[in-house]
Amino acid sequence: VSFEIRYTDLAARIGILDTPHGLVETPTFVPVVHPVRQSISTSFLRSLGFHIVITNAYIALRHYGREAIEKGIHNILNYDGTIMTDSGGYQVLEYRSIQAEPLQIAQFQRDIRSDIAVPLDKPTGYGLKYEKAKRFVDETLKNAKETLAFMSKQDYYHTEGMLWLGPIQGGEHSDLVSYSATSLDKMGFNIFGLGSPVELMEAYEFSILAQMISNMKHRIPAKPIHLFGAGHPLTIPLVVALGCDMFDSASYMLYAKDNRYMHAYGTLRLEEISYFPCCCSICTEYTVDEMLALQPEKRTVELAKHNLYVLKGEISAVKQAIMQGRLWEYVMQKARAHPKLFEAIQLFKNYEFLGDGTSLFKEKALFLFDTIDQYRPEIRRFQNMVSNFRSTDKKKLVLYPEPSVHPFYCTKEYGRLLKRFKNAQICTYNPFLGVIPSEICDIYPASHNLTPRSLYSEYLIEDYPTFIESLTKFTTVNHFEEIIIIADSFMHKILCGDNNTITRQFQPQILDYEEYIASKV
Ligand SMILES: [Zn+2]
Repeated sequence: VSFEIRYTDLAARIGILDTPHGLVETPTFVPVVHPVRQSISTSFLRSLGFHIVITNAYIALRHYGREAIEKGIHNILNYDGTIMTDSGGYQVLEYRSIQAEPLQIAQFQRDIRSDIAVPLDKPTGYGLKYEKAKRFVDETLKNAKETLAFMSKQDYYHTEGMLWLGPIQGGEHSDLVSYSATSLDKMGFNIFGLGSPVELMEAYEFSILAQMISNMKHRIPAKPIHLFGAGHPLTIPLVVALGCDMFDSASYMLYAKDNRYMHAYGTLRLEEISYFPCCCSICTEYTVDEMLALQPEKRTVELAKHNLYVLKGEISAVKQAIMQGRLWEYVMQKARAHPKLFEAIQLFKNYEFLGDGTSLFKEKALFLFDTIDQYRPEIRRFQNMVSNFRSTDKKKLVLYPEPSVHPFYCTKEYGRLLKRFKNAQICTYNPFLGVIPSEICDIYPASHNLTPRSLYSEYLIEDYPTFIESLTKFTTVNHFEEIIIIADSFMHKILCGDNNTITRQFQPQILDYEEYIASKV
């Protein structure tokens, strides 16, 4: 499969997926199109920039049968972009059983010229006991294997370039997700879909969702990933940052039917809106009262269109953040819209794979706000670099609070320190970055970061374990005979804290920063 990755930030990527019906730029939202009752036209979807849709092969088979094979699914849907077909696995989830054999569904998807097809899977959803979830995973794997074997025996007349997606199941059971992903990868699938987080989303269990995606990404770091049933504007930045390239949903329509109006930070009930926080063609055409006065069917269609604008806008905003290297900041902003999302992003401190796609150097300064930011890939990388830094032939260490002017060696303070402490290793420090040796203080992000300095005195030292780690490592490996610390309020707290080994080990000379500045030595 051709999947060209153009830009990355965290685990997110802007990529181009090659399909029989054109190139699809990812990340993308994939609107669910009903094969029979679709009230938003596919041409509207196309005009909005959705060049890929997903439809249900099982419903198409039941409703159209041979007609779909003769016409092809593109004519049935009146859409010439990329069409992904879901096997009907979701119907399995809803009705517990469906009347179609895995190979029949597979053959049908090929015969209707689907661009991306899915073997019949058995979604585990959320809340299944381990044993049962394992059975579902095994059944899905069996179907997937048989489907690929069956397709490889068929003539390839209609299958030229068609992509088969490996459906990963396992729900909240992380070892099942890993097992499922590894097995499908071995079978030779080259695009993957993570199964049915719909129930997780409805329960706002974003942490479990994040963990599922992380487990999968460890097994399949590079290939394109689809997330089934994820269509909430709030979760889009989260799942893209974790490495999902596509995600489908019927949310735009389901929410509209329920009079729910999407916006960048969630949904509102139409009745509780006084002002539309949107300027799309729908929101400029109607006032809230006019919208409420519409016939229900008409209102649903108009609301669904607005919802699509919001989803499209969210995807564009995420892509723009990737291009600017500001996806971390963007995700953190979004996370403040819901406590459950805020909880989920705390897991980012465990996800070292987020560093893989993060540039070594960025043009923009790093904005640092909160304790979670000490775990940014750029910061981790810098701290690693410092832990390998060896101060040559310097017996004395001077630690000084990082000033706002970068780089430090260009400042007057640096010159003054050099004069007063001859032949010393001079370093600055910052609660997020830890120790910054002045020799490498011009390296990103030491040279490019902005932090709210006036708040340092309010920081709790327990919240900055990476600072203490950085300080301890640096002083331990460099064997200084004398340590002089010019301590700001944050450093004073560190030195008084229980976790502080530096005072016990090195008995440093401590000068108060304010007094040091006042003395103008
Ligand atoms: Zn709107």
